Amino acid sequence: MANSLKKGTLFVISGPSGVGKGTLVSMLRQNHPEIKLSVSATTRNPRPGEINGVHYFFLTKEDFKKRIELGEFLEWAEFSGNFYGTNKNFVEKMLKDGHNIILEIDVQGALQVKNKLQEAILIFIEPPCFEELKLRLLKRSTETEEEIQKRLAVVKSELQQKQEFNYVIVNDNLDTAFKNLENIILKEIDGIKNK
Ligand code: 5GP
Repeated sequence: MANSLKKGTLFVISGPSGVGKGTLVSMLRQNHPEIKLSVSATTRNPRPGEINGVHYFFLTKEDFKKRIELGEFLEWAEFSGNFYGTNKNFVEKMLKDGHNIILEIDVQGALQVKNKLQEAILIFIEPPCFEELKLRLLKRSTETEEEIQKRLAVVKSELQQKQEFNYVIVNDNLDTAFKNLENIILKEIDGIKNK
């Protein structure tokens, strides 16, 4: 393919809720603003401070389901009672235009992406232990107790999928985890450029 050298790389960052994916991704974007982030669609309610079109595109369930039928999503999943999905056109256009792009999505969605785009690089962020994850979810106070329990209930099955990923990073120390993530991403981008 003539333009294959210019094609961007798709990075999928995943792992249990509360593991620190969001923090790592914002650090990455601060240091590498040239890497694009896909803004997902969701049916969950916005948290205080979340802006439509910036953090998520907030949709009704009806609208989301319509978009599934129209084939607008590269992947979508039901997580903790809400739908979340990645816009296919956005990702395809960015990659075609040579941009490197990040998806920050749940484990079910990450595996769907791998099935469709084998060249995607999947990175799993793992908590140092279950108790630590529980503590982090409690501390960030963005979910109710019931919501936290729902999120914790799926962690074991999420952790079991980590061997499907290209890389696993333990988020024990934030700076170390960030350095690992940055190294992986730069190495992959560089490797592709030099192929
Ligand atoms: P939260 O409600 O905490 O913002 O997100 C809940 C989970 O949904 C997180 O694991 C987050 O990474 C994931 N998520 C966010 N956007 C998407 C998406 O487009 N697709 C999928 N499959 N998961 C997503």
